Amino acid sequence: MRATVIGTGFGSLASALRLRALGHDVDVLEACPDAGGRARSLTFHGERFDAGPTVITAPWLFDELFELFGERRADCLEFLPCDPWYRLVYADGSRLDLVPGAERQRKEIERLSPRDASAYAGYLKHSQELYRVGYEELGDADFSSFSSMLKAFPHLVRLGAFRSLWSHTGRYFRDRRIRQAFSLQPLLVGGNPLTTTAIYGLIHAMERKGGIWFAKGGTGRLVEALVGLAVRHGIRFHYGAKVVGLSIGQERGLQSVEYSTLSEEASMPCDLCVWGGDPVKAYELLGPSRLSVIERMRARTVQSSMGLYVLYFKTRARYPDVAHHTIVLSARWEALLREIFGGSSLPRDPSLYLHRPASTDPGFGRPDGDLFYVLAPVPHLGNFSSWEEHEPAFKRTVLDVLGQQVLPGVAEQIEFAESLDPRYFRDALSSHLGAGFSIAPLLQQSAWFRFHNRADRVPNLFLCGAGVHPGGGLPGVVTSAKVVERLVREWSEDKAPHERLFFGARAA
Ligand SMILES: Cc1cc2nc3c(=O)[nH]c(=O)nc-3n(C[C@H](O)[C@H](O)[C@H](O)COP(=O)(O)OP(=O)(O)OC[C@H]3O[C@@H](n4cnc5c(N)ncnc54)[C@H](O)[C@@H]3O)c2cc1C
Repeated sequence: MRATVIGTGFGSLASALRLRALGHDVDVLEACPDAGGRARSLTFHGERFDAGPTVITAPWLFDELFELFGERRADCLEFLPCDPWYRLVYADGSRLDLVPGAERQRKEIERLSPRDASAYAGYLKHSQELYRVGYEELGDADFSSFSSMLKAFPHLVRLGAFRSLWSHTGRYFRDRRIRQAFSLQPLLVGGNPLTTTAIYGLIHAMERKGGIWFAKGGTGRLVEALVGLAVRHGIRFHYGAKVVGLSIGQERGLQSVEYSTLSEEASMPCDLCVWGGDPVKAYELLGPSRLSVIERMRARTVQSSMGLYVLYFKTRARYPDVAHHTIVLSARWEALLREIFGGSSLPRDPSLYLHRPASTDPGFGRPDGDLFYVLAPVPHLGNFSSWEEHEPAFKRTVLDVLGQQVLPGVAEQIEFAESLDPRYFRDALSSHLGAGFSIAPLLQQSAWFRFHNRADRVPNLFLCGAGVHPGGGLPGVVTSAKVVERLVREWSEDKAPHERLFFGARAA
């Protein structure tokens, strides 16, 4: 069958590969001139930067994609282990490393808080249970029917899913710094630790299971390796092709996708389609008459993740002591998070994530300086949009914080610095409200409540990527392709008709 996959984010790439392995004839349409979506590579002043993801967890998920075709990821690309995983720098000057090895981690916590060190084993055990149920059992489950949610409900209650991660960590740790260290993980997928369900505590167990890795040469090399694998096995890529319409017929559901390039408006007939862009946009293209009641409600009430401000820069000085993944935490926590997720101005004291790839990969070392990117969570465009006016001052604020906490004198050492803000996510990546991570990982937007992996009323339209189940981050979006694969398999074998008991008719 002819399958059209929209987008080249990791969710789309994984879906395209899985469909190809099922034997489908696959075309991929991408609005940008290159592949990767949020994981694109960008070149500034001759230096290539990873635009987005830099932390690889659950590396086996990528290995599996190569194995579908009898190949080995390690033959194409090396993953380098990160150690420490993250270095947290607190406003009071203290530091904590998140590190490989549970005993090493306990000792590291003990340095700051002996009482909390003894609570770590219990916290880890609970995280492992969250991981077992939340990821291994439910991660690639199909949540397109309400009955699947009812089945999962008792597990969610038992695991404390109705608590926030922040309140969950408070049950184990007393020292605020330790609590922060184990509750900032939702920020890595667009969630507010104060409101994101405690289920996201599974990220720590996932990291402990599989480690934290960096693709040699950058995440862009992983994108290239997957595109190379796809091309070797006959998948066709069409860049600069933005999908602007989904044509639905009376009988066969979706029949073709309409797209526009710089030179033409064109149509691509297909038997099935996987949408890997922002699901809010897919719903817009379908229009209300093609949505079930629940889908219309979801589209109206959706809450987006926060926006991101990212500064890519090169310094003339070198900073060899800076850890690869350094997180600089502001003295404010609750108030700052409320500002980022609901406020209407830019934070004056942002918390930051600093990426220094040369710490793990010597290939990023430069004799005449150092390459970095720094990322600050900021409100999305629905809450703050005056970037034109405020970007220069915010850039200074970010560099000031870095200068005070981790890169002394950095403002004077900048060779070049180029930034992206939520406008880039809106305009280049078609992200609703310029959100950095698609929709927020709230309990009321999880599992069945999240955008489904298949459109309720268009049986041959499937959805992958950060906005659908299981959610954002590389493990989430690559896993969403497994759900899509299962649904496509069932649909094409017509074994498991989609449930429409309450919420919509089967065919369009
Ligand atoms: C700065 C940053 C840092 C991050 N760091 C990490 C990290 O370290 N580790 C981690 O696990 N995760 C990280 N993430 C999250 C992770 O990058 C994302 O969750 C993931 O890459 C999203 O993949 P996706 O499949 O949803 O597609 P996306 O990457 O969102 O790509 C969607 C693609 O679809 C295309 N598209 C959209 N609409 C259309 C259309 N109409 N027609 C054609 N094409 C279209 C877009 O152009 C885009 O290329 C980070 C994200 C950002 C932004």
